[in-house]
Parts: sequence; C-alpha cells; structure tokens
Amino acid sequence: MTLTLQDIHLKRDTAIGKLKSEGEWDILVIGGGATGLGAAVDASQRGFKVLLLEKNDFAKGTSSRSTKLVHGGVRYLAQGNIKLVVEALRERSFLLANAPHLTRVQQFIIPAYSLFEKWFYGIGLFLYDLLARRHSIGHPRVLGKKAVIKRLPTLNKQGLKGGVVYADGQFDDARLAMALARTASDLGGTLLNHFNVTGLLKENGKLIGVTAQDELDKAVYHLKAKVVVNATGVFVDSILDLDDPTSTAAVMPSQGVHLVVGKHFFPGDTALMIPKTKDGRVLFALPWNNAVVIGTTDTPMDQIVEEPVARDEEIDFIIAHFNAFNEKKIDRSDLVSVFAGLRPLVKTSNKSNTALASRDHTILVSSSNLVTITGGKWTTYRKMAKDAVNNAAFVAKLPVVKCGTRKLRLHGYAPLVKYGSPFSAYGTDAAWIKKMISDAPGLAERIHPAFDYCKAELVWAVENEMAMTIEDVLARRSRMLFLDARAAIGSAELVAKMMAELLQKDEAWKTDQVMRFCEMAEQYLG
Ligand SMILES: Cc1cc2nc3c(=O)[nH]c(=O)nc-3n(C[C@H](O)[C@H](O)[C@H](O)COP(=O)(O)OP(=O)(O)OC[C@H]3O[C@@H](n4cnc5c(N)ncnc54)[C@H](O)[C@@H]3O)c2cc1C
Repeated sequence: MTLTLQDIHLKRDTAIGKLKSEGEWDILVIGGGATGLGAAVDASQRGFKVLLLEKNDFAKGTSSRSTKLVHGGVRYLAQGNIKLVVEALRERSFLLANAPHLTRVQQFIIPAYSLFEKWFYGIGLFLYDLLARRHSIGHPRVLGKKAVIKRLPTLNKQGLKGGVVYADGQFDDARLAMALARTASDLGGTLLNHFNVTGLLKENGKLIGVTAQDELDKAVYHLKAKVVVNATGVFVDSILDLDDPTSTAAVMPSQGVHLVVGKHFFPGDTALMIPKTKDGRVLFALPWNNAVVIGTTDTPMDQIVEEPVARDEEIDFIIAHFNAFNEKKIDRSDLVSVFAGLRPLVKTSNKSNTALASRDHTILVSSSNLVTITGGKWTTYRKMAKDAVNNAAFVAKLPVVKCGTRKLRLHGYAPLVKYGSPFSAYGTDAAWIKKMISDAPGLAERIHPAFDYCKAELVWAVENEMAMTIEDVLARRSRMLFLDARAAIGSAELVAKMMAELLQKDEAWKTDQVMRFCEMAEQYLG
C-alpha cells in the first residue's frame, strides 16, 4: 500500500476516534518521551495494537532537554562501565543510519595542557573507538597545538600542548521524538499528547487498563489494555504509587543545566569537551543550530517538577568552566537561553553523587503486571524499547514476534539531506512544506526575523504533528525557546494568532496561551 499524506499525518481527532472505537489495546504506553515513543515504535512494528498517552507534549519532559549527543559516553568509559559504552556505541551507529536527517557525525576536541594529558586522552579515546569496532564513525587523532587552535580558534592557548580530536553523534532531540511519533503512527500505532493517565484499572489484582483525562477538553476515558508500560521518566514513581502506594522509589532525579550563547563566542564547527570539571564530570560546548550549547551539571534533586529551573550556582559553575577554557568570556547577560532537565537515574543507595550513578536502564515488572522502564539515555532508546516490549509481550502473553527496529528507517528518512540545512528536520516531508509555500508564497514568511522557521512549518506542525499549544510549536516543533528565549517570547503573539485560526480558537484562548507561555519562557532567560 502506498501511503498518501492523508494516511500518515498525526491527527488528534483521528486518534480520539480510535480511542472511542477500540475495545482493548495490546500494549498501552504511558509517557511520550524517548523511552515511551521508542516502545510505541517497537510494539507497532511487531504488529501489536498500541496506544501511547502523553500528559503534556511529546518530549516535553527530559527528552527535549538533553545535550543532543548520540554517544557511547567517554565519561562512562573512565568509570569502567564498558558494557554501557559498547551498547551505546552500537546504538549510536543504528540511530545515525536510521535517522540521517536528524543526526550527524560531530567532531570533538579534548584540549591538553600537558604532554601527559595529551597521551592519556589519546589512549582513552583510542580505546573508546576500539570498543565501537565495526560501528566506528571515525578514528581519534592526537593533534599539535596549531591544529587544535585552527579548529577551536577561541580556546585558551596558555600552556596548551595540543589535544585529541574524536567523533561522536549529534542530533535534535525533540525533532527525533516527533520522527518516532510519526513512525509509530505510520506503523498503525495510536498516539495522543495532552492526555494524562490519572488512574490504573485492576481486576483481581491485575492491571486491565488505565483511566486517562484529555487535558484539552477534560473528558475522562477508561481504556482497556492487555499490558501497561510505565515509561514516564522521572515520573515513574507516581505511576508506581498508583499501582501500589507502598512501592519503593525507582528513580533518583538529577538535574542537568545547559546554557546557550551566540556562535561568535565559540566559532567553528568543532565541539569542545572539557574532560574534568570540579565535580569530576565532563562539560561540552557544542555548536548547535547556529548557537552554542554549553553543559551540563549533575545536581541530585528532591523535587520532581515538569518545568525544572536552573539554579544560580549551576549557571555560575558552567560559566566559570567555559571561561577557563575559552578566550571570549561570557557572563549572564550573554545567555540567550538556559534550560534544565531531570535525569531519571535508576535509584541506588548513593544519593549524594549522581554523577557516579549508572546511566544503564532497568525494567521492573510489578505483581499487577505493570511494566516500568527507567534510566538509560536517548542514545540507547531503541534497545530500551526492545527490552520493554519483550517484557510487556511476555506479561500479556502476546504472540512472540522478534524486534524489528534495528534497521527500521524513521519517518522522513532522507540520507542525502544535510543535517541543519533548511527544512532538513522534516526529511522527505520537506517536499510537502515546500509545496505549501509554492501554493501560498505568504507562508514562506518567517515567524521571527532571527530564525528560518516559517509560517508553512507552523501550519505543518498543527496539521500533521499534533502541535496543540504555542509552547508545542515554540519549544519542540521549532526549537526557538531553547535557542533564544527572547525571540520565542517575541513570537508568541503571532504563533497564537495563527494557531487560533487553524484550530478555531477564540480570543480568550489566545490570551491564555500567550500568558502561560511567556510566564514559563521567562525561566529560560536565566
Ligand atoms: C541534562 C541532560 C542531558 C542529557 N544528555 C543526553 C545526551 O546528550 N545524550 C543521550 O543519549 N542522553 C542524554 N540524556 C538522557 C536522556 O535525555 C534521557 O535518558 C531521556 O530523554 C529520558 O527519556 P524518557 O522517555 O525516559 O523520559 P521523559 O523524556 O521525561 O518522558 C517521560 C514522559 O512521561 C510523561 N508523563 C509523566 N507522567 C505521565 C502521566 N501520568 N500520563 C501520561 N504521561 C506522563 C511526561 O510528560 C514525559 O513527557 C540527558 C539527560 C539530561 C537530564
């Protein structure tokens, strides 16, 4: 069957229609971040009847707030977690191959300020590359001082002895989440954002479904499923509590902050990796979408919130480390966006240093048959999804079907598209957006003068990517909030006006949307 645009778009009304007509789902996934979306793709690919419910928007949680690295994790190698590194390096190559329009190979340099450092990092990265084996994406090289400065012109040159250049992957996290949602939908899955799971339905102590509320019209649904997968990231414990109020916590959240500054502070295409911060972590400065993303931190948190806020000391920590390595100094007034995310780390007894906690994932199956998956990394989302669906299928006694996602090309797959070029994030869908512009040239107008994002993309987001609020558009369909919070705030009125027309909303909706968005976005001003 050839798919037409009519068949493949992600529409909320169509999904709600399916929700009402379907008697029982094979697998119901709670959470539309990397883990849940990966599970929806995997399960749909195996031919299961899948429903995914996301409380806010796809990737609203941790999955839009990452460092944007598809990596094995050089740091985990230093910690001796060889298994995780090998697995992530394999997954890195699968993701680069299956989503070429949303990923790219990125060169990184670790600068060395002594000969010992130069060879120490050289050997470490040689080992990193060796672990990738046939999945290597480029061998590391030890560079002299001149070659390092050529690639990192603003690097602090005092005492510089050279460095090591190595390759890892980079991606657009929220756009990859959208590609996963579209892929799951293409494969027959049903996905809904702004749909909150508020209760679990049980019969004789076993789960038979969930109660969920449509956050947009407040309608409540009782939905039946053979098995429920809890993929709610840092929120897994709230679902575990619904299942069993005496359950012990599975997650210890740790906050990571990123600062975004203009490209002129750190020109060039190569990223900087600072190998050792004061708290024993690594810190990156990465070119991303014409800006530079610098981070991150690792702060154990007691509170789990939907919109985490960077602490002053985290911002100061990143600024101090970046300035120690860069000649062009930054201060708070240079920050165009500041974003924070919570890592859903698997709980261990060591609460005080989350930097040392494992980034591996874990699966728990409770006595009611709730399958909970947490931990892990964006890079390993496919393997996590495979493990979650294997467990879910076993619990629900579904037919045994092998996972088929290793070579599954994600929605929009376009190997010749250059990552970061205009419309590249849409892959093959770019042709539809260009057609919209040729039919109505006014749609080529930009939403904000500093960004390429145009009106046609907004229309596309509403009609085909389930964007329901102005935050969905400004934070995750476009990445404006993460790249320049002031520009995003400045675009709110226009986006609200266009969305109100497309979604047939009134003035009160527009006012409420702009007010809510601006209040939230102010936190990104740092
Ligand atoms: C600062 C930072 C940097 C990182 N950098 C990288 C990196 O460079 N590379 C990498 O590979 N990994 C990175 N990671 C890790 C990676 O981002 C996470 O492992 C991953 O995004 C977690 O995805 P998730 O789906 O488990 O959680 P989430 O993305 O948080 O998704 C869970 C979803 O569940 C929803 N939800 C919660 N409760 C309910 C409910 N009751 N009903 C319905 N939905 C609900 C939430 O709204 C949320 O959208 C980073 C993490 C952080 C914090």
